[in-house]
Amino acid sequence: MKIVQYDADISIKRDLDSGTEEQGKVVTEIIGKVRQEGDAALTYFTEKFDRAVLEDLKVQEEEVKQAYTEIDEETLDALRAAIENIRDFHQRQTTQSWFTTKADGTMLGQKITPLDSAGLYVPGGKAAYPSSIMMNVIPAQVAGVERIVMVSPPQPNGQLEPVVLVTAHELGVEEIYKVGGAQAIAALAYGTETIPKVDKITGPGNIFVALAKREVFGEVDIDMIAGPSEIVVLADEQANIAYIAADLLSQAEHDELASSVLVTESQVLAEAVAKEVQKQLETLPRKEIAQASLEQYGQIIVTTNLEESIKVVNELAPEHLEILTKEPLNIVGKIRHAGAIFLGEYSSEPVGDYFAGTNHILPTNGTARFSSPLSVDDFTKKTSIISYSEKALVENGSKIATIARLEGLEAHARAIEIRLEEK
Ligand code: NAD
Repeated sequence: MKIVQYDADISIKRDLDSGTEEQGKVVTEIIGKVRQEGDAALTYFTEKFDRAVLEDLKVQEEEVKQAYTEIDEETLDALRAAIENIRDFHQRQTTQSWFTTKADGTMLGQKITPLDSAGLYVPGGKAAYPSSIMMNVIPAQVAGVERIVMVSPPQPNGQLEPVVLVTAHELGVEEIYKVGGAQAIAALAYGTETIPKVDKITGPGNIFVALAKREVFGEVDIDMIAGPSEIVVLADEQANIAYIAADLLSQAEHDELASSVLVTESQVLAEAVAKEVQKQLETLPRKEIAQASLEQYGQIIVTTNLEESIKVVNELAPEHLEILTKEPLNIVGKIRHAGAIFLGEYSSEPVGDYFAGTNHILPTNGTARFSSPLSVDDFTKKTSIISYSEKALVENGSKIATIARLEGLEAHARAIEIRLEEK
């Protein structure tokens, strides 16, 4: 990893993949065809892209039963424990509707309502990500969303990965469709004969999925278009060198665009970590990916003191921040921008990725400056409640009419004044 001295011009921003013109055209065509032809288009594209010929888009109970026979107890135990922790954490995020009353009898309030339905995209392809299913489904369930649907592209044999089906069943998701890519997003946004439309689509996917989500936004809500993953480790001279190296590599192995950064005021630590990263890299199964990521987006930034290190972290606004200093709690208050903060040497990032309970869907690419982890809030909406009393209207009516006329809206002013006439 390259070691650089801090200078004010640092950034780990990377361009989001916005796809080629050709990919954009393909996605628009797919969405159009699904809107016109419904299920027929879904089976057509599933055969074309996933090489699966389906009789039924919907996953049947027997398929779920079969999936359980392919999952061992150890896996099931781990999934169940993670689900419990994630549910427990998200239950603490719920907010209540509220009312306030004033002496003149006015009542104002805010009503919280869960979305009616949410659709989760689960990527198919090379790897299955049960953690991503848990992180999307649980906040929706805790919010009280009544209908939660999952879509995922089938393998050529027409089946979904057993771990996907088992995780969904453990969570209580029963409506699962075997369809992926832009066609799945179109089905969720506009509905087909088999798949009724949803109000919000969440979950990661490849460029076709991301472009389709962008295109249907407005018809439905979407979560975000996430960028590549990133970690910043803030460490002082006493931090454990092997742990830092392992954590930087755990991010770098995601993909070539992932970014791993160490910020420290210790030149000695910087040099030792650079050496250790090289050593640990040699035995990693995903060595090539991690190496490419570290070469392009890996950095060790050496500062003059801890205060300057904190300033660097706030400028980077990382998705994940690990604080490996003598007193990490003393630093938390000074961090203004980070998606998730991991404190101390036992809080390695995978603890939060999979298990502790916090959500792993976090703002990337510096967007922690203005956005938050996926949460129960993302599956609820607020409605304002206004109940004005006669007394309040008599007292304030002329002010309301004045503001209405300021805006040139005479009917607005009269709607108030008609109520004041005989008072
Ligand atoms: P995917 O499910 O996202 O995409 C597969 C679908 O893409 C296919 O069903 C097909 O419909 C469509 N497709 C493929 N080639 C096409 C073409 N030429 N034209 C039109 N449509 C086409 O699965 P994937 O491709 O394996 O990608 C998974 C993605 O999800 C990866 O980019 C991975 O990094 C990402 N991911 C991210 C996270 C996260 O938390 N950020 C988690 C899991 C996965």
